[in-house]
Amino acid sequence: GHNSAPDYLKGLNPEQRLAVETTEGPVLVLAGAGTGKTRVLTTRIAHILATGKAFPSQILAVTFTNKAAREMKIRIGVLIGEGNVEGMPWLGTFHSIGVKLLRRHAELAGLRSDFTILDTDDVVRLIKQLIQAEGLDDKRWPAKQFAQMIDGWKNKGQGPADIAEGDARAFANGKGRELYKAYQERLKTLNACDFGDLLCHPIRIFRANPDVLKEYHKRFKYILVDEYQDTNTAQYMWLRLLAQRPDAGRASTSTDLRSAEGRKPDRASAGQAAPAEASERSERAAVSDNKVNICCVGDDDQSIYGWRGAEIDNILRFDKDFPGATIIRLERNYRSTAHILGAASHLIAHNEGRFGKTLFTDRDEPEDGKVHVHAAWDSEEEARAVGETIETYQRQKHNLNDMAILVRASFQMREFEDRFVTLGLNYRVIGGPRFYERMEIRDALAFFRVVAQGADDLAFERIVNVPKRGLGEATIRQIHDTARALRIPMLEAAAKLAESDELKPKPRAALREVAANFERWQKALETTPHTELAETILEESGYTDMWKNDRSVEAPGRLENLKELIRSMEEYESLRSFLEHVALVMDAEQNAGLDAVSIMTLHSAKGLEFETVFLPGWEEGLFPHQRALDEGGRSGLEEERRLAYVGLTRAKKNLHLWFVSNRRIHGLWQSTIPSRFLDELPEAHVEVAESGNSYGGYGNSYGGGSFASGRGGQGAGRQNPYGASRFDNVGADTEKSGAFSNTYATPGWQRAQANRTEATDRNW
Ligand code: ATP
Ligand code: MG
Repeated sequence: GHNSAPDYLKGLNPEQRLAVETTEGPVLVLAGAGTGKTRVLTTRIAHILATGKAFPSQILAVTFTNKAAREMKIRIGVLIGEGNVEGMPWLGTFHSIGVKLLRRHAELAGLRSDFTILDTDDVVRLIKQLIQAEGLDDKRWPAKQFAQMIDGWKNKGQGPADIAEGDARAFANGKGRELYKAYQERLKTLNACDFGDLLCHPIRIFRANPDVLKEYHKRFKYILVDEYQDTNTAQYMWLRLLAQRPDAGRASTSTDLRSAEGRKPDRASAGQAAPAEASERSERAAVSDNKVNICCVGDDDQSIYGWRGAEIDNILRFDKDFPGATIIRLERNYRSTAHILGAASHLIAHNEGRFGKTLFTDRDEPEDGKVHVHAAWDSEEEARAVGETIETYQRQKHNLNDMAILVRASFQMREFEDRFVTLGLNYRVIGGPRFYERMEIRDALAFFRVVAQGADDLAFERIVNVPKRGLGEATIRQIHDTARALRIPMLEAAAKLAESDELKPKPRAALREVAANFERWQKALETTPHTELAETILEESGYTDMWKNDRSVEAPGRLENLKELIRSMEEYESLRSFLEHVALVMDAEQNAGLDAVSIMTLHSAKGLEFETVFLPGWEEGLFPHQRALDEGGRSGLEEERRLAYVGLTRAKKNLHLWFVSNRRIHGLWQSTIPSRFLDELPEAHVEVAESGNSYGGYGNSYGGGSFASGRGGQGAGRQNPYGASRFDNVGADTEKSGAFSNTYATPGWQRAQANRTEATDRNW
């Protein structure tokens, strides 16, 4: 009964408790954001351990990030005592668990247990060698592209023999399959594997060695998976192998074992499972007899990794794969206010092809505000206004730790980072390097530093062979030696070497070009505007082209970041003052353990929650992202919308969305259109606010009064049916929209707009 239940079960609602206590057999928890799915998994592990159903080493638990795994371990410790979670060796990500499996059975994959894991650069280099060895033109058939293809195949669990004819032909005139095969063989001789192999090798090992698989069937008494909606096909195959017990064919009855086992789920409260098909009856009987204790939790509305091969279908067919599964729906959201939840649910309802679910909250606090939508003139103003809103919260005794800025694209971070450094506001970037620490930014900065300061050897060394010019270690050492012997900077030493005959012709020519480039750029520093020069440097050095020719998924983002870097330089008078600023920003600590605002991409925010969330950049082309729009069709757009849903549902209490009227895209100022997602938010839960009282100066001159009349005076907005977008006119031509201190619920855009344009004070 309830009263005798252990403490860790007491706070759960009946459905959550069912999910925790139904330890035997397959369980799928399919539920919306913030309903306690992760909490269920954590409590379930605690329950299994506390009731002695399994030792820690007999539980296989998969989380989406290593950070999530660490947190889960800590929380389980809190529930049942730290000492009891010691040694959960199989709690981690698919990859971290995959490495462990592969180290144990490396020889079955033709590797030694000390195999190395290659990073993307290594992989590309290796493939390039193979392409050249085939006598193919590696310009026509870029290694990057093939690396991408291999990755895609491995996401689907396909080896060289499995890939479709068309796929194999798609590269190098039909040599795709051979190349793939050669690549795998080469890896073997190198005693190495790539990321995809961490899953694919174990799959092949399990298939070829039933006794090994059996060992794990015995070991893993319980399997748990978080964020199941984002598993790709390989991960899914891997899981199925570990979870299904095909040899358990003894059960002869074809009746529904759900009731026979006495744990018939309460379908009324647990939601409905897909109707079972008669033809699957016997299979179901066989499998459930062998107790596949797998529990997956997920939310089809939060599937955001389709671009990386995630298959939303995995979650939709769970009941087929694990017949007799108990399917549990959680409908109570414990995270967010009713307004936030209402806004998010309404938005995601615009997607077709979803399970559909209701979410409710009991939370009804009078002080809960609506979701705020803010307009700003441009991204600079957006960053400033967000900074000021954060400071306002701070004055009201909110912790910075409870606030997060979630961006659609990483280049958006730069403006916030700069602003926060200026304000002295602590921040940390999660799930990736900070803007100025990104590889491409550091490379670009290294070029600029050498131009500004020819003696910056560290910077010089970073880019002397970027893009690759065939300067090997030996040459670099020679430059070093010369520099040291003559007590001159490396750049000068390189110039000297380029004119001597100490080097072979090829590196000599390369060095001569490097030296000539820098000499020219240094001269131009006196005469050319620094942003223009910066662009020239990146072009003439071949750096921009290097990324343009790069087919990896990261490349477009890196190009965007480079453009953002150039853009940010406009705010400084000279290259030197810009570099000084960067040095200061770089010096700011990552603020681990300090009270700090988190900045991260929407993708890396999955599963997290914050009291206050800021979502900037809700404009067409940025969010939904242009690449999704270009794809056409529904699926790209729907994935963007799911991403928006993930963003909205990270917030517990306060949620602020922003859109700007002007954003620099691809190096050009463009006036932007508010995101269609803003139009999809229900009025009842949203209020369009201006940037706040922060721009007192402007506000006094024209803001409050004119806007007030726009709102009340004619009531134009109220009668006005929405056109294409009810946000179209908000901020569209607004200069310093922060002027308006009013917050209003009913749109009176057009009237307000007329008043505002008069106040235009900025020339573009
Ligand atoms: P997401 O889909 O975003 O990953 P989730 O379904 O995993 O969300 P959790 O993160 O587990 O949700 O829970 C959301 C919040 O609600 C957490 O702060 C959690 O502690 C709280 N919560 C969950 N269940 C309960 C409950 N029964 N009572 C009180 N709080 C709860
Ligand atoms: Mg979760």
